[in-house]
Amino acid sequence: MPVNGARKTVGIVGAGQLGRMLALAGYRLGLGFVFLDKSEDAPGGQIGDIILGEFSDPKKIAELAARVDMLTYDVENVPVEALAGLPKDKPFLPPISALAAGQDRLTEKTLFNELKIPTTKFRAVETMADMEEAVHHIGYPAVLKTRRLGYDGRGQRVIHGPAELGSAFNALCGVPLILEEFIPFEREVSLIGVRNLKGEMAFYPLSENTHREGILRLSVAPYPDKKLQAQAQKYMKRVMEHFGYAGVLTIEFFVKKGKLIANETAPRVHNSGHWTIEGAVTGQFENHMRAILGLPLGETWAVGYSAMINFIGSMPALEEVLAIPGAHYHNYGKEPRPGRKLGHATVVCKTRKELMNRLKKFPGLDS
Ligand code: AMP
Repeated sequence: MPVNGARKTVGIVGAGQLGRMLALAGYRLGLGFVFLDKSEDAPGGQIGDIILGEFSDPKKIAELAARVDMLTYDVENVPVEALAGLPKDKPFLPPISALAAGQDRLTEKTLFNELKIPTTKFRAVETMADMEEAVHHIGYPAVLKTRRLGYDGRGQRVIHGPAELGSAFNALCGVPLILEEFIPFEREVSLIGVRNLKGEMAFYPLSENTHREGILRLSVAPYPDKKLQAQAQKYMKRVMEHFGYAGVLTIEFFVKKGKLIANETAPRVHNSGHWTIEGAVTGQFENHMRAILGLPLGETWAVGYSAMINFIGSMPALEEVLAIPGAHYHNYGKEPRPGRKLGHATVVCKTRKELMNRLKKFPGLDS
């Protein structure tokens, strides 16, 4: 289907699995894709051309821009300086301001507080003296994190008492840090929402997420709590309106004593939203493309109960997964490596009870 009469091509900075799934959804709409990535066998390359280069290289960004009608990204660590020279007629969405805010945990948490969205207690840390002052304010246990470039639990240390203060600081120091209160949460949930260029918004049901070693293992949706859903949507609207946002946005929350505490945003499609491909009327990847192209958004309600299981380090056999009723298998085509996200499966059922029963049989889920 041509968009506004002509076939549009979208440039994606990053050709990881998120880029690949964006392109898979976009092809159905008649879009073409070109990626920028430093690896020629990145997953996006199975679907579109990859321009080989670093995200930090303005020349490579310009080369990508020259081949496409507009740009988006599948990674959060695109240095915003590299985007400064983009031509005005090549929109880059979601907005650079949102990308920049999401790159620094301190900026992000400060913004949450300005928008009256609750967060953990936090303090910026650069020196050991800052550490001592910060822990005096925050108490134990606390979590020390790098402000930038931390993901999947990398660049983090939990500090249980004064004896661990120095070693945690030494392990991470040299870059700006943030010390946070450790939240003994009941659960973690995330909200994925989408806003288009006209300002229309839609929100998916909350997903309940389980992490191990800082990496997402399992998402189950919808998380059935109307009050939390409404509260999370209210918070997300504030963030979207603040940035004049277009595209998919994710906010991860801790739930403590039944209340939401915002942990972080991702100004992009998110791993905890992969279930929406088969488990919602319109998947997050399609809605992202619709949003940045100014098209009407697709409905976001869940068609049943879904669970998304990440495959980390190794892939279970295709036959074994497909033997589970309601299961869909996604293989990103990546070289196996410990700790690497290689694929996922989504199981969709009519009832939550049935879903939980099917998960019991899921290969490797309890390990
Ligand atoms: P993050 O990189 O901030 O998303 O952290 C990865 C995971 O570490 C989170 O999903 C939580 O499971 C855990 N975590 C991070 N920060 C905290 C915190 N302040 N209190 C408790 N757990 C945390």
